[in-house]
Amino acid sequence: MALIVHKYGGTSMGSTERIKNVAKRVAKWHDAGHQIVVVPSAMSGETNRIIGLAKEIMAQPDPRELDMIASTGEQVSVGLLSMALQAIGKQAVSYAGWQVPIKTDSAYTKARIESIDDAKVKADLDAGKIVVITGFQGVDEKGNITTLGRGGSDTSAVAIAAALKAQECLIYTDVDGVYTTDPRVVSDARRLNTVTFEEMLEMASLGSKVLQIRSVEFAGNYRMPTRVLSSLTDPLMPLEEEANSGTLISFEEDTNMEQATITGIAFSRDEAKITVLGVPDKPGIAYQILGPVADANIEVDMIIQNQSVEGKTDFTFTVPRGEYAKAMAVLEGSVKAHIGAASIVGDTKVSKVSVVGVGMRSHVGIASQMFRTLSEEGINILMISTSEIKISVLIDEKYMELAVRSLHKAFGLESA
Ligand code: ADP
Ligand code: ASP
Ligand code: MG
Repeated sequence: MALIVHKYGGTSMGSTERIKNVAKRVAKWHDAGHQIVVVPSAMSGETNRIIGLAKEIMAQPDPRELDMIASTGEQVSVGLLSMALQAIGKQAVSYAGWQVPIKTDSAYTKARIESIDDAKVKADLDAGKIVVITGFQGVDEKGNITTLGRGGSDTSAVAIAAALKAQECLIYTDVDGVYTTDPRVVSDARRLNTVTFEEMLEMASLGSKVLQIRSVEFAGNYRMPTRVLSSLTDPLMPLEEEANSGTLISFEEDTNMEQATITGIAFSRDEAKITVLGVPDKPGIAYQILGPVADANIEVDMIIQNQSVEGKTDFTFTVPRGEYAKAMAVLEGSVKAHIGAASIVGDTKVSKVSVVGVGMRSHVGIASQMFRTLSEEGINILMISTSEIKISVLIDEKYMELAVRSLHKAFGLESA
């Protein structure tokens, strides 16, 4: 008998029929003698619908109130799933984040989990119940409801698995594992049986939304075995087969000498680029520009500072597109005048494409192959950033899919 956490995403919970299938699958695992905690997302489209309502009222909705409503989709899901389990004879109980409680900081719309109390859940499991806990939401120390950022149910699931010292966290979704790139963009993308934790971390941080990045961080910090697998198979398929399907995040670096140099291509459509022009080139300038942006809780990604000409330079960086207006407001508000910049310009029609692979450590020439492929397609590179196991480029958004497809081919990632 093992304690296992299942997470089901929006598509997997997309209709009452699908919820009944989730219940059948969960019941199968419970019947096999396991203790099961289920963490569902809102039904597909629901979180978008709710955020859309908020935006009809206010262009920039108040973050506390936004979390108050955005978290409700998950509350519907846990209740329905508990009922579906009860309807097939299982004892099940649902909890919202605050009831567990799952404590977070107060950064509305992108809160971080600080602690999870396991007492109530453990008692229910020991009493033979299946416990269904909302994904995506938590509660801060003042009792305010918070959410963990889009795709945050993955993080709830892995964090709950870590807190309960579960044997494994199974992330059920609408694809049957992690692929070399998004199979919706490249139809012959190949499913990976395993992916190293480091590569998954890079892929998630570079935009592969199959797992939210913080879930991968939790998996790494707690060495929680985490598997991505399909929820759209027959829920009554043999358990052994299901338990070994999909993609396992591994913590061992593959020692196989023939491993691919590049594991996958990640992309993020929703980037924005900001350039502060005519900045005096003197110590502290990067801090004076980026400090206030960080204080506004906006994540900065790629950064370039140009060569200075006559003591002036241009400073360019990228932010998530959804934070562009806020970042511009911060810069125009106080920073521009304070540092004596000439002007601030922005571009919201840019995307980032990255090649990722631990094999890059021992292979040279990946960057030149990447740049050659893009140049052969006539794609202009706006910014570049690298780490030991990835190279990212910022390009015009209209070339994003072309770039992903041609790089996928150039690095031989397609399925045989
Ligand atoms: P869920 O609602 O189950 O959380 P998501 O839509 O958040 O599902 O994530 C699954 C989706 O991630 C897939 O449908 C796929 O389009 C996308 N995706 C992006 N990159 C990858 C990748 N490398 N491998 C698999 N899926 C990917
Ligand atoms: N329902 C939330 C979202 O749409 C969380 C999740 O699906 O993981 O972002
Ligand atoms: Mg998701």
